[in-house]
Amino acid sequence: MSEQPPRVRIAPSPTGDPHVGTAYVALFNSTFARANGGTFLLRIDDTDRTRYRADSERAIMESLRWLGIRWDEGPDVGGPHAPYRQSERGDIYRRRAEEMVARGAAYRCFCTAERLERMRAAQRADKRFAGYDRACRGLSAAEVERLRAEGKPHVIRLLVPLDGSTAVHDELHGQIVVANAEIDDQVLFKSDGFPTYHLANCADDIAMGITHVIRAEEWIISTPKHVLIYRALGAPLPRFYHVPLLRNADKSKISKRKNPVSLDYYRRQGYLPEALLNFLANMGWASPEGKEIFDREHFARHFRPEDIHLGGPVFDLEKLRWMNGVYIRALPPAELVERLRSEGFLPAAADAASVGRVLPLVAERLHLLSEFEELTRFYFAEPGAIAVAELGPLKGGAAGCARLLAEAGAALARVGRWEGGEIEPVLETARAALAASKPELFMPLRLALTGRKDSPPILEVMQVLGKDKVLARLALAARSLAEPSS
Ligand code: GLU
Repeated sequence: MSEQPPRVRIAPSPTGDPHVGTAYVALFNSTFARANGGTFLLRIDDTDRTRYRADSERAIMESLRWLGIRWDEGPDVGGPHAPYRQSERGDIYRRRAEEMVARGAAYRCFCTAERLERMRAAQRADKRFAGYDRACRGLSAAEVERLRAEGKPHVIRLLVPLDGSTAVHDELHGQIVVANAEIDDQVLFKSDGFPTYHLANCADDIAMGITHVIRAEEWIISTPKHVLIYRALGAPLPRFYHVPLLRNADKSKISKRKNPVSLDYYRRQGYLPEALLNFLANMGWASPEGKEIFDREHFARHFRPEDIHLGGPVFDLEKLRWMNGVYIRALPPAELVERLRSEGFLPAAADAASVGRVLPLVAERLHLLSEFEELTRFYFAEPGAIAVAELGPLKGGAAGCARLLAEAGAALARVGRWEGGEIEPVLETARAALAASKPELFMPLRLALTGRKDSPPILEVMQVLGKDKVLARLALAARSLAEPSS
């Protein structure tokens, strides 16, 4: 193996929302390149025109950028092997396919869709090896020329040896040997002028000097075909690492139905990119220092692709939520404000000072940036009038509560230094004088001050709100209860 710096790539298909699996594989590839002075490139695998979605490429790039994953070569930044969009590299694949035909490693197949369908139906009926029956392998050169001259559409197929076997060495899975009889004569180049995934990726990996192919495990069964293509094209093999797929809790391949898979979803929910990356790194790798929370520098320092685990990693959303909370709490208030602002979650009235004040009250319950507004509404928005219905069956009804709040307000107005130790005894004295139980006083207080029945501890809320706001909110609530119709 050469000692040159690694060249690695991801080759996502723009067929839908940016997938969390793309981020997973991108993380391993980009970290490996970065830590070893190598190059990480982004190539867009858009040759399957039936599944192509126009906005998907942009969304993939935007999500990767949001995650802080940067590529050295790609469709947007260019590079020595441009273009990096497979749909723009048609000639290269055509030439490669023709080269393989010329070398006797591939052949032209003129079978019609109808014939292939009949063939498959027959194979299904008697449970034979499902694959192309190699009918066109027997065509003579003259026959091929005649059919071409007649303008009959054709594909180019891989000519798999009929006997022997093909070995693949995977750095994670070890040696895999497949009998050639089990390998289909794969279509390499289609009649619509586009290559299939297999030819396009091998041709590009060769042209772009890819040294390590780190990709999802689902491609491992295709790799023997790729080895045959590499050989036919006279190119050295890269090292292969097939990374286990992310799993739903029931161990099935991660799917939309059971788990959110779109990176957009995680962004919209207010996950922090560094938390998501840390979580993803943990899915396939364990820090040698036994750390669960680590930054990308730690990961880059220790990560080696051969240490990727083979167990099917379960994508545990609860765990990710927890980890995100840890990351949010570690942000300095000014940084948190910036994150909230840039992702559109910052309440209008908030700034670093106010966020710093209110944060300690909600931090333990804050797991997602999107929860911030709801958790801190009591602070940044005026709760307004109390809805009488919210109070439930309290002693004295609305009028009684109005009196409680007015009296509590009057007592609190006399507090000199506005801190918990001063506020609490004053409230206690007022409560005793009013002959109210704790819930009888505290529930209306809580509603008046926060607009909700569940809030952080009320003394802390009072302190954070400050005396003026507390008195104003109590007065407003008392008035609204005294005149419920207004
Ligand atoms: N387009 C394929 C994917 O998104 C690329 C697989 C490969 O890396 O070879 O999974």
